[in-house]
Amino acid sequence: MNPEDKPKSPAQSPAQPSGEASAGNLPKAYDPSIIERRWAEYWIRERLFEVTTPATEAGAPHLGVPGELARRGEHLASEMWDEDSNRVPSRPTGGPREAAKRRVNAFTLLLPPPNVTGRLHMGHMLNQTEMDILTRWHRMSGQTSLWVPGTDHAGIATQMMVERQLTTEGTNRKALGREAFTARVWEWKSQYGSAITGQMRRLGASVDWSREYFTMDDRLSIAVKEAFVRLYEQGLIYRGSYIVNWDPIQQTAVSDLEVTHEDRLGKLYHIRYPFADGTGSIVVATTRPETMLGDTAVAVNPNDERYTAFIGKLVSLPLSGVNNGPNREIPILVDDWAQPEFGTGAVKVTPAHDPNDFAIGQRHSLASITILDTEARIDLPGSPYHGLDRFAAREKIVADLEAADLLVAVKDHNLAIALSQRTGAVIEPRLSLQWFLAVNEPPTKPGAPSMEQRDMGGAERPSIAQTAIAAVRDGHIKFTPEMYRKIYMEWMTNIHDWCISRQLWWGHRIPAWHCAACHAITVARQTPAACTTCGSAAITQETDVLDTWFSSGLLPFTVFGWPGTESSSTNNQQPATNNLTPDLAAFYPTSLLVTGFDILFFWVARMIMLGTHFMLDVPMPDGSPRTLADAVPFKEVYIHALVRDAERQKMSKTKGNVIDPIEIIECFGTDAVRFTLASMASPGTDIAFSEARTEGNRAFANKIWNAARFLFMNLDRAREAGYKVDLGAPTLLAELPDETPLETRWIFARLSAVSAEVERALSDYRFDEAANAIYQFFWGEFCDWYLELVKLRLVFDVPQNAVTAVTLASLTGVFESALRLLSPFMPFLTEEIWHALYNGAPPAKSIALTRYPQACDFPANALSVAAMETMQELITTIRALRKELGVPEKDATPIVLYAGARVIALADAHSDMLARLCRVSAVEIAPEPLTGNNARSTSSFDVAVIYERQIDVPAERERLSKDLAKYEKGLAAAERQLGNEAFMAKAPAHIVEGLRKQAAETRTLHDKTKAALDALPPSNQ
Ligand SMILES: [Zn+2]
Repeated sequence: MNPEDKPKSPAQSPAQPSGEASAGNLPKAYDPSIIERRWAEYWIRERLFEVTTPATEAGAPHLGVPGELARRGEHLASEMWDEDSNRVPSRPTGGPREAAKRRVNAFTLLLPPPNVTGRLHMGHMLNQTEMDILTRWHRMSGQTSLWVPGTDHAGIATQMMVERQLTTEGTNRKALGREAFTARVWEWKSQYGSAITGQMRRLGASVDWSREYFTMDDRLSIAVKEAFVRLYEQGLIYRGSYIVNWDPIQQTAVSDLEVTHEDRLGKLYHIRYPFADGTGSIVVATTRPETMLGDTAVAVNPNDERYTAFIGKLVSLPLSGVNNGPNREIPILVDDWAQPEFGTGAVKVTPAHDPNDFAIGQRHSLASITILDTEARIDLPGSPYHGLDRFAAREKIVADLEAADLLVAVKDHNLAIALSQRTGAVIEPRLSLQWFLAVNEPPTKPGAPSMEQRDMGGAERPSIAQTAIAAVRDGHIKFTPEMYRKIYMEWMTNIHDWCISRQLWWGHRIPAWHCAACHAITVARQTPAACTTCGSAAITQETDVLDTWFSSGLLPFTVFGWPGTESSSTNNQQPATNNLTPDLAAFYPTSLLVTGFDILFFWVARMIMLGTHFMLDVPMPDGSPRTLADAVPFKEVYIHALVRDAERQKMSKTKGNVIDPIEIIECFGTDAVRFTLASMASPGTDIAFSEARTEGNRAFANKIWNAARFLFMNLDRAREAGYKVDLGAPTLLAELPDETPLETRWIFARLSAVSAEVERALSDYRFDEAANAIYQFFWGEFCDWYLELVKLRLVFDVPQNAVTAVTLASLTGVFESALRLLSPFMPFLTEEIWHALYNGAPPAKSIALTRYPQACDFPANALSVAAMETMQELITTIRALRKELGVPEKDATPIVLYAGARVIALADAHSDMLARLCRVSAVEIAPEPLTGNNARSTSSFDVAVIYERQIDVPAERERLSKDLAKYEKGLAAAERQLGNEAFMAKAPAHIVEGLRKQAAETRTLHDKTKAALDALPPSNQ
């Protein structure tokens, strides 16, 4: 951060977005489309959410104070409620030198990088709303809050996008060649790749755009290469033949996680394999007869007596001859995998095209014959099936078997067919040479860095999987909802080696070179000139690229500069140093990851594996070794729910119920959409997104807008009357002056309680409870009650009076605080009004840089709350009575009140409230309980409205009779329950107490109603 970027004093406030509102001229109508675009641009232009890299002392791994924290200190000091520093527990104290010694109090999170090919959907909208609320909340709570955005290069998805483009141009990837194709993808990326981040910018996500990365950036690519080379040096990366899920359309291996299964009706073919010696035959069953061309054995179960006599015999494999030669001969062997109940109990073994057969092949040292090429065509030169597509080959083979009388039966068979998630192609298991990360092996080679052995309780460094298990088992990473911890542990415990190679052109190309002379592999950080084994210059680089999850699994530390500058050394033989970069020192481990369940294994688990593995080698800022607790990539994982449609249906293109977040935002505004999502978001609960609800939240925004206009109008009147309205110095809060009216004492107490509730709710990821608490406060208590009551106090006659002054200051202060409370949820609306409130001279560049309201910021007096609640009950009761009695709105009426001394004193002291809110002209105190038909009773008072009118006696009789019947029923039920000995013996004391109290109250109401009924004049009057 440049010195010039330091905040200016309010007098030289930074340039505001043009056309911003001021106290006097907040536009009449709330129009989110205008204000949202303007503020989104302003936040980016003013670089408000950027967090600078902490400064270091002469390269030592000590921390400076990040620029933002320093800036924030100034903002905080100039804030309204911040006179008393005791109220700011999180605020740094002491000089900069002191601060430098402490670890940065940071809240850090990574945006799960969307695919560069992506467009924003409602899932993103929810996940980004949640992240933005948390980031803004932590930022306003005094933490250096860093949210790092970026995009993923998305290997397959991006390559497919460009290949489709090429198809329309009548060419293809292969015709172009690797280099030209890759250039085309970069071109595509520069043209379309910022679509999704452009949408995010518009949504006002408070990410640090200066740190935006792309997973193929040079800096990150170096880190990816470094990680690969180190793992290779540690003996954890190997190349091996393996059965992979092969996508014949994309011609690449895809992971188990990228395969979906669909139930389809297929066929089970029973095929006769004749014995080579001509003495008989054995019948095998298969769903993929074309793979028989690659069979190298037939397996039977050792306990299957039908076949005991055949074990060790050879069969002549039908149709397997090439160039009109003889059929191959393969053995019958025993293996537990053959199930006597399945098919015929005898299975053909094709090690190169089935994962289970591959395992059988390993157990029995069978040959693996690959008979399908990368596009799933038969690859068996000299065979009549050579070159046929797999499905065409199947038909021809079945026909030929039938002709040779070798097809015994064809049966319908339900099978779960494996499909590629990306292309929909039927997956063809295929033996191929891939690169693997050994997650269950300890690092073996010398040079594998040491770690704190005692941390893991073994003499040997544990495997990557063991470390990742320990990180969660020992509580260094917390999952919300908690059930995902168990899912993670189960998956991690059964994990296999990770196939990290992909046969694509778009991605991080594996830094390995094959030697044509000696066939050795050279793995290097820099392109080598010659083979390290034999010195031959005839080396070519591996064509495979790394799985995108390999690079994104490194992000939590590579975005902060790992492995440090010195490691891009040209020395291939030395492992790079483990520099603690200033960013790593300040921001690693990150605080939180917010993501969806669908990438729990793809990404979350892999970040934990790679994060702990590499970061354990990076020392702590004080030079001490890092423990597992500080090696994890994040301290907490919050798995968010799904957004469904209003009928709780999953959104899908086929159903046509997909909601485009941008369309809905254009309709209701970003703030309303955010608030809707937040008000329904809680751990483990899917969201039924409804437009009606969003419309309701837009009305909420409008209500606040109108409240602001009311306030501004009164501020104008106050200034005209010579009142001093100082937004910057509310000294009244230390102790409210004696003349402070009840409703002001009450609203401060409520603001304090709501601040505490929001703090609690957000700490528990209860976005719904936080949003609803603010909604109830702002709409119900502030707008509906407080604004009505302050109209009594805002009297701008001369001479000036103290009550008006204190009310004006309080009203402004409470409103400003409520805006700050709401700000993380509705950042645009609150920013607009907050700037208008300060009339162009705000104490900070943004409301987002002010302090989040804390319970202790406001005086909270329990007596005032109780008193106000009684007044509210009295007012609502009188209003209801007036309505029932048909009193015209404008008519003032006297009331009669029967109550204890406290309520009578309250009513007496606040007769102005009663006059204003329910048109009470006089209060008469009754000596005994009120029973008339114009009276109502509550547990703390009886009240009657004196109003002469023609009573509709039959209607009133009917109403009272109905009430009486209801109370009688209630009493009978209560007596039944209280008389039930079995129930009473078991029920907890507080339940019994509650029942008794309820029964007593019902009895009182019953008696009063009975009296009212008796008091009615005869009906014929
Ligand atoms: Zn060589």
